[in-house]
Order: sequence, then C-alpha cells, then structure tokens
Amino acid sequence: MLILVINCGSSSAKFDLFELNKESSDLLRGTVERIGEDSSNLSYEINAEEKIQKEVLCPDHHSAIKIIKDILTDPEKGVIADVSEVHGVGHRVVHGGEEFTESVLIDESVLKSIEKFSELAPLHNPPSLEGIKGCMKIFPAVPQIAVFDTAFHQTMPEEAYCYGIPYELYEKYGIRRYGFHGTSHRYVSAKAAEILGKPLSELNLITVHLGNGCSADAIKKGKSVDTSMGFTPLEGLLMGTRSGDLDPAVVTFIMQRENIDAEGVNDLLNKKSGLLGISGVSNDMRDILKAIDSGDKRAKLAYDIFVYRIKKYIGAYAAVLGEVDAVVLTAGIGENLPRLKDELKRDLAPLLGGKTEFMAIGTNEELLIAKDTYEIVNKMK
Ligand code: ADP
Repeated sequence: MLILVINCGSSSAKFDLFELNKESSDLLRGTVERIGEDSSNLSYEINAEEKIQKEVLCPDHHSAIKIIKDILTDPEKGVIADVSEVHGVGHRVVHGGEEFTESVLIDESVLKSIEKFSELAPLHNPPSLEGIKGCMKIFPAVPQIAVFDTAFHQTMPEEAYCYGIPYELYEKYGIRRYGFHGTSHRYVSAKAAEILGKPLSELNLITVHLGNGCSADAIKKGKSVDTSMGFTPLEGLLMGTRSGDLDPAVVTFIMQRENIDAEGVNDLLNKKSGLLGISGVSNDMRDILKAIDSGDKRAKLAYDIFVYRIKKYIGAYAAVLGEVDAVVLTAGIGENLPRLKDELKRDLAPLLGGKTEFMAIGTNEELLIAKDTYEIVNKMK
C-alpha cells in the first residue's frame, strides 16, 4: 500500500512516500523550502539514492502540493503513473486541541476543528490546512488522515495540564498545557519497548526529544502523563532559539524596558533566545560544540544550561513516575551526541536506581504518520 506523508510548516512542505505492507520502505522523500519567496528550493531523493535539487516557483502550500504530485508522477523519474495509486495521505497537524486523542480521517468537521485550533497554533495549523485542502483537490478520492502532535499528550491528568491562573481562562480560551512532539515521543517509546522486550503498557519511560525544538515526556505504562512543552512549544527545556521555562514577569519587564509589544517579545522568546540567545554564536548544537572547543565561554554556558534543564526535568519526571525503566534520547542532538547520554547516565543513575537504561533511539515521525494512515485506510476497506 502506498502512503504519502505531508508535513507543511510555515514556509516549507516535507513529503515522504512509503510502501507499507508487512515491511515499510521509503520510496521518495523531499522538501520544498522558502515557500512564498521569489524562488523556492526543492530537494528530493528517490529510494534514498539519487539526490535532486532545483529552484522552483512556489507561491503557496497549494502550489507545493502540485509540485509534489508532479515529482511523484514524473514520466521519467516518478514512482507512480497516476495519483490514484496512492492509498492514503497522512498529514502532520501540530494542534488538535482537546478534541483529538488519536489520528483521524479528515472530513468537513475535522477541517473546521483544525481551523478553530489555528488560534492556538497560528504559525502551524494554517499551512497544514492549506496542504490538506491542496491534497483533497490534487489527490481526489484518496483518504486524507490527520496525525496530531498534541494527541499523544491528551492522557495527561488535570493537575499536569492546568496552569495556576484563573480557571475561567482555561474555560474561555483553552489556556492549558497541551504538549507537542507527540508523534516522536510515541514512536521512540514504542521502539524502546521493542528493545527492552516488554509491552509498552508495562513500562515507565522518560523520552527526551532534542532537535531544534526540545521536549521531555513522562510516560507511565505507555501513556503520556506529563510533558515539558505547554500551551505553545515555548515552555520547558532550553531549545535552539526558544527560551523554555521563564518567570512570566520577565515578559512584561522586557516589554516595558525594551519598549516592545506582544509580537516583539514573542519573537524574542521564540527566535532569539535559547542556545542562540545565550551563546550569541548559533542555534545549532554543532556550532556550539565547536565554539566551546575554541574556548568560547558563552557557548559553554549555553550548553551547560541546556544539559542542566534536561537533568532537572528527568529528576522531576522520575518523581512523577516513581520507577523509570528507561531514559530515551532522540532527534538531532539526542541521537548524535553520545557524551550527553553518558553524562546523564553518570549523574542521574544514582537517583533513578541501577535498573534504569539510558538509550538513544532514532525518531521517525513520518513513518509513524504513514502507519497511522495505513491503519485507518485499511479499516475503511
Ligand atoms: P529538527 O527539530 O529541525 O527536526 P533535528 O532533529 O534535525 O531538528 O536536530 C537539529 C539539532 O541536532 C541541531 O542543533 C544540530 O546541531 C543537532 N545535531 C545534528 N547532528 C549532530 C551531531 N553529530 N552532534 C551534535 N548535535 C548534532
């Protein structure tokens, strides 16, 4: 069964075509970047071999879907002859509010809900919606499935998701903690269970996604019971350009002293803080490590804050879970920086007890989206 996965960001559209049966294989994957600029960048690879890069004209996400369709059905290099060969399209959608606890077939009411939750994720849900609508036109009669970043965390109890602000604000605007990166935490927790040789429903795990965005998740008997991102993906760990946890009074103080408005402070905390803001060097961990090697003190401080926060969250989640079977690191930094895993193990193993495993597992959100899509499409037959 051929499943196409689409992940539309604010100025990008990633695509990935899987053949899913008992085994899965990745037939074609790529990205359209700089959507909406005068010239956009298209790059893709077929069967993980031939890498193709081009400049293309791509004014919006609808055009991106058209470009993706043309690649898939290209008479020379494409992998399908007709769009009807695709059995399902899985879409990554960042925000599903409190409505979606799992992946769903998209119909009119789902579209309306995704639109409604655009208020909570103004940078993310609108491009997803455009991508979905584009696919509905360009891949007509192919089921479209939404896979939400927030869905996995809908099992959090009230005491974990409520903020200490007037309850009416939760009722009125839905201000609460939602959590993100759910697909990644779900994927690596299932992988960890495979590696540990136990059912996920018997395991307590702390999964830590460390990419450009970073989040930790406390998973009790397979269910997310707390996570470090909150109302938006700004809360929690230190990230590439996001501040993570902060005294909210700092926000109003900066606004007054620096004379900036809500948009300005939002920009500062989301795009100019984190590893970048502290180091003044880069948001990229590889650059931070290089700068540390050449004696840069602020890069060292950025790294130290980054690691310290991770330790604090693991400690807190150990208290939430009681027993921890494994601490699982994933995404760009989590997968590629063994010294971080070693340091966490050295410093936290005494607290967690001798039985806790420390592991790094590669995440694959696209594959999980494809699998969810496959399951839903299969049931429709
Ligand atoms: P995204 O959230 O954009 O998907 P990734 O999961 O690709 O991000 O992670 C990006 C981060 O991973 C960057 O900070 C990058 O520096 C870091 N990273 C990638 N490779 C390595 C490596 N070998 N060592 C340390 N950090 C790495």
